[in-house]
Amino acid sequence: MSFKSKLINDLKVITGDRYIITAKWNKQQYSKGWRYGEGDALAVAKPGTLLEIWKILQICVQADVIIIMQAANTGLTGGSTPDGDDYDRPIVIISTMRIDVIQIIDQGKQIIGFSGSTLFGLENKLAPYGREPHSVIGSSCIGASIVGGVCNNSGGALVKRGPAYTELSIYAQINLKGELEIVNDLGIELGDTPENILTNLQNKSYTKDQIKFPNKLASDNEYHKRVRDVDASTPARFNADGRRLNGASGCAGKIAVFAVRLDTYPIPKRQQVFYVGTNSSYVLGKIRKDILSKFQHLPTSGEYLHRDCYDAAKKYSKDTFVAIDKMGPSFIPKLFDIKRKVDLVSEKFRFLPDNFSDKLMQFLSNFWPNHLPKRMEQYRNQYEHHWVIEMSDKGVDEAKIYFEKFFKENEGNYFECTENEAKKAILHRFVAASAVGRYHVLNKKKSGAMMSMDIAFPRNEKDWFEKLPSEIDDLLEMKLYYGHLFCHVLHQNYIVKKGVDADALKEKLLKTYDARGAEYPAEHNVGHEYFAKPTLSKFYKKLDPTNGFNPGIGRTSKLKYWK
Ligand SMILES: Cc1cc2nc3c(=O)[nH]c(=O)nc-3n(C[C@H](O)[C@H](O)[C@H](O)COP(=O)(O)OP(=O)(O)OC[C@H]3O[C@@H](n4cnc5c(N)ncnc54)[C@H](O)[C@@H]3O)c2cc1C
Repeated sequence: MSFKSKLINDLKVITGDRYIITAKWNKQQYSKGWRYGEGDALAVAKPGTLLEIWKILQICVQADVIIIMQAANTGLTGGSTPDGDDYDRPIVIISTMRIDVIQIIDQGKQIIGFSGSTLFGLENKLAPYGREPHSVIGSSCIGASIVGGVCNNSGGALVKRGPAYTELSIYAQINLKGELEIVNDLGIELGDTPENILTNLQNKSYTKDQIKFPNKLASDNEYHKRVRDVDASTPARFNADGRRLNGASGCAGKIAVFAVRLDTYPIPKRQQVFYVGTNSSYVLGKIRKDILSKFQHLPTSGEYLHRDCYDAAKKYSKDTFVAIDKMGPSFIPKLFDIKRKVDLVSEKFRFLPDNFSDKLMQFLSNFWPNHLPKRMEQYRNQYEHHWVIEMSDKGVDEAKIYFEKFFKENEGNYFECTENEAKKAILHRFVAASAVGRYHVLNKKKSGAMMSMDIAFPRNEKDWFEKLPSEIDDLLEMKLYYGHLFCHVLHQNYIVKKGVDADALKEKLLKTYDARGAEYPAEHNVGHEYFAKPTLSKFYKKLDPTNGFNPGIGRTSKLKYWK
């Protein structure tokens, strides 16, 4: 029996035939990134329990194959899929989405999220306790997982809570001798052997007394202070921040995480979204400084969109918006699965165009009526810069008084959103992340490469809105700006003009960010797109000395033992 057949047979013994995927047709959903990167894998394994993950890991380590851990695969920098064909060992992807258990502990003040549990699922699970998740990110509404967020130090929208972070997790690691080990840092006494530990956790076979409260963080509990420090010359948060790299947190798949333990937060009693428009980026800078430094109550979130991005999202993300709005986030993974399959079928028929599904969805979306509320559309015509600010409880009145006075003295305006407007304004901002990709697919023949930058600017940066020198600006066909403005995390997406050397241009762009004291990536993690700074690569090497998990991440070596 060949090496490949034996490995696949061994894996099938663990999960059953159905959950070991080897056909190209079915693997693509797992081997291609959302926006960036793709490569082949020998198989995709879809375990149904924590113990099955452990057994699959044992087989893979024994067979000396590379392991790529994957959750919802919404990462934007290719960090959850293989990338290219220059690996020195075959690859097995472990997709954990079947293992979606969430256990509530300490009367809902904390949760244990298994590797495939989602932020959306957590929101539902916590609602009866009057509590909500530690983090909300743009991709919460398309099924992003809790663990993927922690592994990526995902930042997201919540101004008070900062990046996803915990020091309490349980994971498997390959040591320097090439042996698989379990590390139980969950703060719960679960037994001595991996089999006992994982079975007890899966079945919630532990008592209240076995749950310990060690002096370890289950969230970034200082972030609210950092974000308020608007005079600091460093960014508030970024992926290579050594303060927030610990075990599962920021691991980028260099270990196999079974579960994480996280804090939760009370649901506010009152919430209000304010929609702000202005033609001056300095007006937004002033509001940001005032709110962060003078308000007693921090905002829940503050999501920025430039008018060009507003327009691009209105046109190119309309189908995603409508699908989420009408069918809910749980439909989106199915929709994207269908989309990938349509593209694979269409590749076989020469008369159908490339990226047939995108072209079809774009065409169909033209028939759907305008999905954006009237008042947002009026602001679109009046203002270049748009900011969707959500306040809660006493912060609502604080903001009302502030905005009323502020816009008597400053250019721009605001309105208080109705519930429907608030939902649509936030969704419009979140689906904006997919607009650049759609535009690029539809305009491939006439445009150059796509570049997506995820930048954390210093907290004291006044010129937060980019002004590029003409030698760079003239080479760009499209620029889309959006982001988490209170945190100074901006997503800057560009399409370069046809014929332009995108790599050289990217280097120049990165130099402009360096000159401004920025850090990158801010929250999407390095994936295969960005170089890992020494703080990150040292962390990866310590977690994974044999380079058996997700090699090549942060453009590091793909070879065994990091050769
Ligand atoms: C429309 C859209 C909006 C987005 N908005 C935001 C945003 O606002 N803020 C933000 O920070 N990000 C955002 N993202 C990026 C992305 O969604 C986040 O990084 C998200 O947290 C990834 O979760 P996931 O479940 O998809 O993880 P995946 O993409 O599957 O994995 C992410 C990383 O975690 C590793 N990993 C996954 N599971 C395990 C495990 N069990 N053990 C070890 N490693 C593991 C993977 O190897 C990979 O390196 C957005 C993406 C999209 C498509």
